Amino acid sequence: MPAHAAWPRDAGKARSLEDGCQFVKGVGPTRAEALRRLGIENVNDLLTHFPRTYYDRRRLAPIASLHPGIEETFVGRVLSVTQRSPMRRRSMVIAALGDDTGIVQVVWFNQPYLIRHLKPGRELIVSGRLAFFRGQRQVVSPEFEYVEGEGDPRDSEAGGRIVPVYRLTAGISQRYLRALVSRVLDDYHDAVPETLPDDVLDATTPSRYQALRSMHFPGDESAFEHALARMKLEELFYMQLILSLRRRRRMERTSRPRLRVPFELEKRFLAAQPFALTAAQRRALDEIHADLETAPGMNRLLQGDVGSGKTVVAAAALLAAIEAGHQAAMMVPTEILAVQHFRTLVPHMERLGLSMTLLIGSLKPAEKRRVHEGLRAGTIHAVVGTHALIQAEVAFKHLALVVIDEQHRFGVRQRAALLAGDPHMLVMTATPIPRTLALTAYADLDLSVIDELPPGRAAVKTRVVPPDKREAMYEYIRDRQGAGEQAYLLYPVIEESEKQDMEAAEAAHAELSEGPLKGVPMAILHGRMSMAEKDQVMTAFRAGVVRVLVTTTVVEVGVHVPQATIMAIHQAERFGLSQLHQLRGRVGRGGRDGFCFLLVGDGASPEAMERLGALVRESDGFKIAEEDLRLRGPGEFLGTRQHGVPGFRVANPLRDRALVERASRAVKSLLDRDAGLSSADGQRCREYLRAVLSDDEGSRVMTIA
Ligand code: ADP
Ligand code: MG
Repeated sequence: MPAHAAWPRDAGKARSLEDGCQFVKGVGPTRAEALRRLGIENVNDLLTHFPRTYYDRRRLAPIASLHPGIEETFVGRVLSVTQRSPMRRRSMVIAALGDDTGIVQVVWFNQPYLIRHLKPGRELIVSGRLAFFRGQRQVVSPEFEYVEGEGDPRDSEAGGRIVPVYRLTAGISQRYLRALVSRVLDDYHDAVPETLPDDVLDATTPSRYQALRSMHFPGDESAFEHALARMKLEELFYMQLILSLRRRRRMERTSRPRLRVPFELEKRFLAAQPFALTAAQRRALDEIHADLETAPGMNRLLQGDVGSGKTVVAAAALLAAIEAGHQAAMMVPTEILAVQHFRTLVPHMERLGLSMTLLIGSLKPAEKRRVHEGLRAGTIHAVVGTHALIQAEVAFKHLALVVIDEQHRFGVRQRAALLAGDPHMLVMTATPIPRTLALTAYADLDLSVIDELPPGRAAVKTRVVPPDKREAMYEYIRDRQGAGEQAYLLYPVIEESEKQDMEAAEAAHAELSEGPLKGVPMAILHGRMSMAEKDQVMTAFRAGVVRVLVTTTVVEVGVHVPQATIMAIHQAERFGLSQLHQLRGRVGRGGRDGFCFLLVGDGASPEAMERLGALVRESDGFKIAEEDLRLRGPGEFLGTRQHGVPGFRVANPLRDRALVERASRAVKSLLDRDAGLSSADGQRCREYLRAVLSDDEGSRVMTIA
């Protein structure tokens, strides 16, 4: 926020949404401080501090005719009040409230301080449900407010209409906040500018001012619906506008090397593979070639279900950069995965006369230093690594291409660090992104989809295993490993703890090796082991010396052991659907059928069982991701807030699909007719962007505009 926002308004100066709260009438320094705790610094923050819910107080019920079980609002005067502690430490405050028609008992638990406020004679407006307790008409723990001052509560801030209920903090009451918002809405009428282009605003779309007013004090349900839709549309519109501007800006930039090469290294690399690319892999690779050869270069998201073969495609991209005389890097989220990719690729690189190294946190300092030197000098052509790649000491001579595997595991800042020198970028994910989200969060990336698995892969057979079938399952695992197959036994945590009731890998390993799996070669693998230990265990498991691997989600992403056919996930109800899908993608990768057992505890809820059922029925990662998103919401799923664009406060790109599409059309239409944002509509957008983006980001995005 610009510094001048804090200055008092001169008498003659126009009101602005950036006016600091402390200078609004009725807000002194103390209240301003309290508002700040709610994230409210200025008038705009106040007007967009939307209610967390509403009370419908259009109809006030007479006390005599309250209906049991229905949420109703009534006004009553305190006739008497008492306090009791029937059980130890559980206090009750009981008040008798009356109006002209009758009396009702109201009870609050564990709010002993109420006794000081509920003085006989005070009038309350109460929203709650009537119930019967030992024949007594009673309302338990209702929301209520004091009706102060003169007159009919129907006319006061608190009653007679749909009233907002806000998130509060100490020193700020509902009454106060309602009155403040109401006054500011009146006083700042002329200061609320329209923020959407005219052609987006149709007959049912209220102006921004009207929408803000209805968000706080809706006249009726339909006014609220229209206001909410309008605020959502605004969020979705700006999310997409910002991403589109970034993308256009990048199109104008020419600092990236164009990689025009005959792709000789790639041809030799692919010829050495024991398989031919699938048509979908070929298509993705062609799209990558086209990116590399033309400005502004590659900003591509490569999406393909678990096992669809993204790694070879990525490796081919690395080779193109190297062939053009540059360096290439691949960043992955775990050390296990880094080592695995390194082992897969290094023989090919060596055969092609190239130098590839591994850079992970657990290397010895001397080894790290050697890698750092090689990268700086340009003697290392390609590097596979973890977060160790983005440490300050790491510098490249001429890095031209970066691949980020399983990108959802990385924060935006980590990605940005590796992309600082503006290399070509390929990010890969096995988590399919529904179109509506692709339009929003990823609108600045081109998309390639590998929608085909290599031939001969069957879907992993998935079963839910209740507690009484566990023994039979271990028996089955014992049999299968006798026939040369291998299994992962996966647990939510490494170690048991008193706080959480989670099955732990270490205890299970001890128990199983003495019990149902006695004599079976078993090992344990988890994130707290040293890299050398992990490596040793993975090598033994890959070689089949270890048949059963007791582990945690360290194996979630990318691990590839073809003889593994069984994935048994303990307390499966604790995992997200997409994560479970990833995990089961670890098995059935070698031609033999894969099995995934979802073990549930006794306490698994019906909803959890229903969720797991989706996994049993569905093998398409795309559909599973949609289901997962529906259940968890996109914020958590994508960490949208991390994307450096204003997060969603009211919109949900998954549920508000029609609005996403509408916003998308509106952005396109605006930029088609006014890419420079110089028209009246464009100016509106500039103003908005200036307010929501940091100065830095704002000027970067808008320089192209
Ligand atoms: P993911 O997309 O999950 O990262 P990987 O790249 O790890 O998948 O590939 C999984 C396995 O499939 C690897 O063993 C890889 O060698 C193999 N593979 C990749 N492409 C093909 C193909 N076209 N035909 C057969 N096997 C393939
Ligand atoms: Mg992979």
